[in-house]
Amino acid sequence: MCKDLKESFNKIIDGNKEWMEFVKNDTSGRFEQLAKGQNPEILWIGCADSRVPANELTGTKPGEVFVHRNIANVCVHSDMNMLSVLDYAVNVLKVKHIIVAGHYGCGGVAASLSSSQYGIIDNWLSHIKDVYRLHATEIDAINNQHEKENRLVELNVQEQVLNLCRTSIVQNAWKNQQPLAVHGMVINIGSGQLIDLNHTHTNNDSLTKVFKFD
Ligand SMILES: [Zn+2]
Repeated sequence: MCKDLKESFNKIIDGNKEWMEFVKNDTSGRFEQLAKGQNPEILWIGCADSRVPANELTGTKPGEVFVHRNIANVCVHSDMNMLSVLDYAVNVLKVKHIIVAGHYGCGGVAASLSSSQYGIIDNWLSHIKDVYRLHATEIDAINNQHEKENRLVELNVQEQVLNLCRTSIVQNAWKNQQPLAVHGMVINIGSGQLIDLNHTHTNNDSLTKVFKFD
């Protein structure tokens, strides 16, 4: 390995040594408990962006948040990865909250508003172009590009929340009286604030008829 590669890799190894030391010195018994299994109450679906780590942002510890991340926190019904995480979180872990967390300054959302090509990701970002299509009048009425992108960040979260609510997994949990809330939130990286978009669903009442399962 060249010097450059070694340095960045060693940073991880050194960091882990520090973590191991921390775990060794912890006397609460929580790591012994965590080694046996997990019981998180929250499923976090966030962006893969390196600046939005779920635990640090929410002051939660290992074992408290089940996490799924992808570029621009997209929830697509045909994504087996997302559906598997969702199904396991809802039906096995019985999480109480699902949080879709977008963030201002999201590169994926910004790219979806442009005509530039970035590779395979362009096909993934098409899902966000679909969100734009639904809200084109509102987005187009905003003059400032940065504000356009940030509004699409919010609308993307809102639509991904709805996508989750439309899944058979979430609707069956509600049908079985399982307490489950699906929230939409946006992170302001500069201030660290996690903003609630007040777009929370705890049942399928607000879904239009075609999306509701009996
Ligand atoms: Zn992002």
